[in-house]
Amino acid sequence: MEQPTVDFTIGKVKRIALIAHDGKKKDLIQWCERNKEILQQHFLCGTGTTARMITDQTGLPVKGYNSGPLGGDQQIGAKIVQGGIDLVIFFSDPLTAQPHDTDVKALQRIAQVYDIPIAINKASADYMITSKFMSKEYVHSVINFRAQIEERAETL
Ligand code: PGA
Repeated sequence: MEQPTVDFTIGKVKRIALIAHDGKKKDLIQWCERNKEILQQHFLCGTGTTARMITDQTGLPVKGYNSGPLGGDQQIGAKIVQGGIDLVIFFSDPLTAQPHDTDVKALQRIAQVYDIPIAINKASADYMITSKFMSKEYVHSVINFRAQIEERAETL
């Protein structure tokens, strides 16, 4: 009998996704510069333009996916599903309509489903980066999707 949840370990070295909407890019770059010492101990990735600008302006290596409106948020969401991302820092802009609003919501939702910490503004990013778990392993329980499929296939 499969357990309803499985334990996953977020390692000491985190795989961090960095994303900022256009109106927040400057803020995220400043935040990265301020937290450079910590960030350089982890693997960084991000949506295309954000990743490129952080690398250009801070020197931090950030692997870039597609630009957000061209599917970058979805690529990061898919990476979460595959177990390839541990933290998300997403400076989203609540005052500007986004053409890819549905993708943004999908990313936020999938981070929630997989219990992946996601900071959506500077204060939450500050709390996250100063957390004691940044330099430790962290074990969390995630829904066991194999068990879920088994149960659904038998009962639906
Ligand atoms: P960008 O995408 O980094 O390519 O600008 C971010 C977003 O708007 O989701």
